[in-house]
Amino acid sequence: MAATAYIGLGSNLAEPTQHILSAIEDIHNIQNSSLARTSRLYETAPIGPQDQPNYINAAVSLETSLDPYELLAALQQIENQHGRTRDTGHWGARTLDLDVLLYNGLVSNDPILTLPHPELHNRAFVLYPLLDLDKDLEVPKLGKLQTLIKTLNEAAPRAIQSPSFNPMST
Ligand code: ADP
Ligand code: MG
Repeated sequence: MAATAYIGLGSNLAEPTQHILSAIEDIHNIQNSSLARTSRLYETAPIGPQDQPNYINAAVSLETSLDPYELLAALQQIENQHGRTRDTGHWGARTLDLDVLLYNGLVSNDPILTLPHPELHNRAFVLYPLLDLDKDLEVPKLGKLQTLIKTLNEAAPRAIQSPSFNPMST
């Protein structure tokens, strides 16, 4: 039986839009999985160090029969293929960051894979892309997505048009 996973994407180095679009294709190609929906792409100012380019963020939903750890491993492999190095520090600039935001209704406190993603409710650049995917989404433990957005009380990041690849339109 397939699970529904929500993946958050972020990039702020070297053509971030292209990295996000090609990462969506890579996620589309993960084994035993199929891409369900793709959010718009959003442009946001970095959190943490400010001397780095703006981020491009997006989210996708995926039907998968991989277990959560297999999915995380597949995403880390895609990060590595995009030339991500882990030497820029937490919140430092990176070519591609892929996070498992949700995996079905699973709740986990494992530091290797914490679910829902521990920062989900604090980040407009995560919540608004999720809203594109499912406006009625219920987040395990935290409640309705729309309530989380109201509670955060931050404006939506700027949505940009995706220039060349949009699986939602196919
Ligand atoms: P961040 O995404 O917080 O900026 P990293 O991408 O470097 O930082 O992630 C560091 C570690 O976070 C990874 O080694 C991974 O095992 C762990 N992790 C815990 N929960 C999750 C999750 N839900 N999705 C992705 N990684 C996670
Ligand atoms: Mg990450």
